[in-house]
Amino acid sequence: MQIGCHGLVWTGSVDPEGFELSVTKSLTSGFDILELPLLDPYSVDVASARAVLDKQPITVTGSLGQSRATDITSESLEQVAAGEDKLNTALDVLSALGGRYLVGVLYGELRKYDEPPTSAARANGITALRSVADRATELDITLGLEVVNRYESNMINTAAQALRYIDDIGRENVVVHLDSYHMNIEESDMYRPVLLCGDRLGYVHIGESHRGYLGSGTVNFPEFFRALDAVSYNGPVVFETFSTAIVNKDISRMLAVWRNLWHDSEDLALHANHFIRNSIHSIETLSMH
Ligand code: MN
Repeated sequence: MQIGCHGLVWTGSVDPEGFELSVTKSLTSGFDILELPLLDPYSVDVASARAVLDKQPITVTGSLGQSRATDITSESLEQVAAGEDKLNTALDVLSALGGRYLVGVLYGELRKYDEPPTSAARANGITALRSVADRATELDITLGLEVVNRYESNMINTAAQALRYIDDIGRENVVVHLDSYHMNIEESDMYRPVLLCGDRLGYVHIGESHRGYLGSGTVNFPEFFRALDAVSYNGPVVFETFSTAIVNKDISRMLAVWRNLWHDSEDLALHANHFIRNSIHSIETLSMH
């Protein structure tokens, strides 16, 4: 398993300086992966980022949630086209940086909805994702659809819903992206959803119940890591946290980041890296005896 860190642990900006800082700090904290927030993939300076990666090699992945203007689960073909273009642009950025995963709420706008999606809107999103998935296949990139809580999507709140949605897309390179923070809100436990996904689980976010320090909340991490071991999960495992200490205006509003859960990025990241690796190691010892 490769262990990673979300870019917002380090900085709210994705400019060249922000990218270099995120790469340097992720490497010195012991991570294998840096997950780049690609909410605005058009703004990424790919040449500068590429130059940083030539000096400091780290695996890059990318994540995003759609905005109102780019919601592919919509009856407006204009919004669907804009969302598809954003996803394709994110694929271009990742491809240039050697990234192999584009994950997150790719399938719709990240917000609290007032009603369920219409069947026409859902069908539009699925059609768009088929086309993006085909392009991703050519670039050797996997799409991870993140299962999020009810206040961030009206479509995929459980692993079971994600599997049905992915069945409807019908593309091999579209996988389930589970996040312990969201599972802790919506799933019945931390074990069965992982087994339900099996080898269709392709990306994992590790977040505490309040998105602060791992181990300081209510998420049952031993059960979750035991489940990952049970399905022989070997994809990325990325630490995700948000605090008012590091602010990206768009993400902070989308995810309702109103509180300061930590202030020292380096202490937080070192702790998270040890926590994740120790958790995996603990479970591995079970099969040694
Ligand atoms: Mn997440």
